[in-house]
Amino acid sequence: MLRSLAYRLLPPQCVVCELHAGAPSTSICTHCETDFFAPGIDRCERCAIRLPVEQPGARMCGRCLTTVPNFDATTTLADYVSPVDGMVMAMKFTARLDLADLFGRLLARRLSVLPSAASDAIVIPVPLAFERVRQRGFNQSSHIARAFAVAAGRRIVVDQLLRVRHTPPQLSLALKERRRNVRGAFSVEGKLDGQNVLVVDDVMTTGSTLDEAARALKKAGAVHVHNLIVARTP
Ligand SMILES: [Zn+2]
Ligand SMILES: [Zn+2]
Repeated sequence: MLRSLAYRLLPPQCVVCELHAGAPSTSICTHCETDFFAPGIDRCERCAIRLPVEQPGARMCGRCLTTVPNFDATTTLADYVSPVDGMVMAMKFTARLDLADLFGRLLARRLSVLPSAASDAIVIPVPLAFERVRQRGFNQSSHIARAFAVAAGRRIVVDQLLRVRHTPPQLSLALKERRRNVRGAFSVEGKLDGQNVLVVDDVMTTGSTLDEAARALKKAGAVHVHNLIVARTP
C-alpha cells in the first residue's frame, strides 16, 4: 500500500542500481538496461546459449547441431547471472510482479528488432504444475507473457498448453534425467494447425522443459515455435 502510494507520487527508482529514475513507465534506468540487457551478443539461434568467441559467424551451438531441439528459435534478454538472477528470484519468491511487467516490456522491445519473428504468432506462457501455482499463488511466466502481449500487441492464449504432470524439481538432475523427467509433462487442448507460437518462460537452463513444450505444441499442429525467455543459464 505504502509502496504503491510512493510509486504514484515519485518517479520510480531503477530496480537495479536504485540510483537513477527509470524512464516513464519502466522501472529500470537506461544505464542498467544497456549494461545488463543489451542485445548483440552472439548466441545460438536455437537455444540462445552464448557462442564461443573463437567461432565467429557460427549460428548454432554444438549441442543443437547434434540434437536438433523441437523449438525453432530462442530469444533471451540476458544470461542468468547477477543482477538478473536476483531480479528473477525476487519476482518468483517475493511476488515482485512489477518485475514480470518489466521483463515482458523488455521482451517486446527486443522482439521488435528481430526480423525473423512471425508477426502473426500467438503468445503462450509455459504453465506451472497446479501444485506449484497453489504454493506460489501465481505463475510468473503468465505475468511476463501478459505484459509482453500487451506491449507487443499480440494475442495471448493461456488455456491451450496444459501441464498434465507434476515434475520433481529439475535442479539436481543431469541432462538425460531432465529429459526423462519432463517427458509427457504437457498436453495441448484443441488444435494449433498452422499456428506460429511464441512461448514465454522465465529461465532456460538445459532447455528440456521448453523442448518438451515445443514437442506438444508441434504435435498439435504448431509450425514455428520461438521461445522468449528472460534469462539463459550460461
Ligand atoms: Zn539503474
Ligand atoms: Zn544451441
